[in-house]
Amino acid sequence: MPCFNCGARQSDPVRGASPWIRGVRADRQVLVCPACRLEADLSLDRCAECASAELVCRLGEIECRACGHVREARPGEKVIADAPGLSDEVAEALSRVLAGGLLRRR
Ligand SMILES: [Zn+2]
Ligand SMILES: [Zn+2]
Repeated sequence: MPCFNCGARQSDPVRGASPWIRGVRADRQVLVCPACRLEADLSLDRCAECASAELVCRLGEIECRACGHVREARPGEKVIADAPGLSDEVAEALSRVLAGGLLRRR
């Protein structure tokens, strides 16, 4: 998954602490690169309880990693876009295909 802000990709996945941060934007999981995380205006979603931007998006839920507050993701969003590991383009293409009924079961 590339940085949502500048499109940079994580070149070498480091085990343990990564300088990249995960966040949630418009109820979607996003990755932020070390350069962009320093920017003040990333428009990340924030926790309603503690205003932390350290949110994790799971299926249908947004959890705050700072205080543990959980809220439902806004209805109307496609659940498929929340699947971890899917880039926005892939999720978008998939939902387009699904919506068009082109993906048939064998
Ligand atoms: Zn970036
Ligand atoms: Zn919180």
